[in-house]
Amino acid sequence: MREVFNGGDWTIARFNSFVKSALRSASQRWPPKYQCLNAAKRGKKINWRTGKLAEHYQCNSCSKEFPLKEVQVDHKNPIVPVTGFVSWDEVINNMFCEQDNLQVLCKECHNTKSQVEKTLRKEYKNAKQ
Ligand SMILES: [Zn+2]
Repeated sequence: MREVFNGGDWTIARFNSFVKSALRSASQRWPPKYQCLNAAKRGKKINWRTGKLAEHYQCNSCSKEFPLKEVQVDHKNPIVPVTGFVSWDEVINNMFCEQDNLQVLCKECHNTKSQVEKTLRKEYKNAKQ
């Protein structure tokens, strides 16, 4: 296991967050993400916030339709499993998954799902101790 990062200036936590953010930025260009968004398109409608015509996307959880800014592409199986980090191999495999593991969620449904995952993570972490 490596112990020195950036000549000792970085902790492992800083290094991990650096790698995570680099991966996240690459995942913005991962084609299945756009295939997933395209599949959720439901046509142009008036965006009630702006009053302008905008493409709408259907949330896979509540089935309501939202403009692009209000939806997120979610990994059905979380990138880091609720049981905890295992390896970067696993993180990369989960992050750059195929379209069948991706879904469009509105911000509210995505928050709800993230909260549930956060609670499960805590429970697993506490159970391990
Ligand atoms: Zn929703």
